[in-house]
Amino acid sequence: MEKLIYMDNAATTQVSDKVLDTMVPYFRESYGNPSSIYGFGQKNKAALQEAREKVAKSLNADPKEIYFTGSGTEADNWAIREYAKKHQNKGKHIITTAIEHHAVLHVCQDLEKEGFDVTYLGVDEEGIINLEELKAAIRPDTILISIMYANNEIGSIQPIKDIGALAKEKGLVFHTDAVQAAGILDIDVKEENIDMLSLSAHKFHGPKGVGVLYVRRGVNLPAFILGGAQENNKRASTENVPGIVGLGAAIEEAQAHKQEDRQKLSQLRDYLIDQVLEKIPHTRLNGPRGDKRLPGNANFSFEFIEGESLLLMLDHFGIAGSSGSACTSGSLDPSHVLLAIGLPHEIAHGSLRLSLGPDTSKEDIDYVVEKLEAVVKRLRDMSPLYADFLEKGGNK
Ligand code: PLP
Repeated sequence: MEKLIYMDNAATTQVSDKVLDTMVPYFRESYGNPSSIYGFGQKNKAALQEAREKVAKSLNADPKEIYFTGSGTEADNWAIREYAKKHQNKGKHIITTAIEHHAVLHVCQDLEKEGFDVTYLGVDEEGIINLEELKAAIRPDTILISIMYANNEIGSIQPIKDIGALAKEKGLVFHTDAVQAAGILDIDVKEENIDMLSLSAHKFHGPKGVGVLYVRRGVNLPAFILGGAQENNKRASTENVPGIVGLGAAIEEAQAHKQEDRQKLSQLRDYLIDQVLEKIPHTRLNGPRGDKRLPGNANFSFEFIEGESLLLMLDHFGIAGSSGSACTSGSLDPSHVLLAIGLPHEIAHGSLRLSLGPDTSKEDIDYVVEKLEAVVKRLRDMSPLYADFLEKGGNK
């Protein structure tokens, strides 16, 4: 295989050996339907239960509060759409943020078409909401707050415990999209007063196409898919047994070494950030520094260039990064997250997200920084904007 320096772990991760080994028997030997009465099927029901217990333990939840879904996107859709529709007689106002993943934003926009009113809270220059603004946004007709745990583009971590406490005080249901946080941050749904939470296995070395919606007991959330009794009558369809078993194994594995991972990743992340800012002029870091940032996330804007050209040239050197969230690549609109932290369009266009993983080494970072420096220089040399900047007396 050609050289690959994979720095796009926020888009997806490699399934770990242990997770894969746990999954394989469920494709071949133990392929029974968990809904079947005979032992061959019931064995798989037990495997689902075991995975449910592992997820519950990782969140400090009860296994009965865990529902397996087909993805993080599905969990977000389910939580927001079904809760809003069910409780619209109490009010039609929802509070979220301007920097959510499209799995949340597009549902909210769709609900607006159906007569709901949505407040999209702004964020500061680090990508973090203001609690006073949240408090002020709450109205008598507010029914739901949905605020992501950590942002997928710039890594900013929200004050979840404070948001949860406020939601509880006001008697509001609080959903959080924890797709980027699960498996690496410490999540405790009880301590943080989280009522609903979404996560997705492929972000923490589990398989793609399997997620979880945690729903606190007592939250009245209707079924999402009808047609069977699976997932306690709430999400019909024959369960993705290998996927769910893989999710359980992945969350258990991630929990076991997340403290070490956090330490290692944040050290490497800070080294990468320092190197890039030191070696490449006219560059800014997007998102916060330190503990308010996801351990593996770095996001930069390079003035005078386009993120897409940068990605293509880095790809030539075997470096995989992202110019925003994977879901917006292919579109020429600048990232809504970068605009929300106040970046002008032209600077938001020249952005690069590098997200580190367990295999990232210091040598990888040195290689990436070296190539990045050369590629940025090359693109700037071709940029009429840069030529104009220099002509007007700007420094190289
Ligand atoms: N929410 C966030 C914050 C994400 O980063 C992603 C994936 O990029 C999703 C939701 C969607 O998850 P999935 O890919 O499992 O649908």
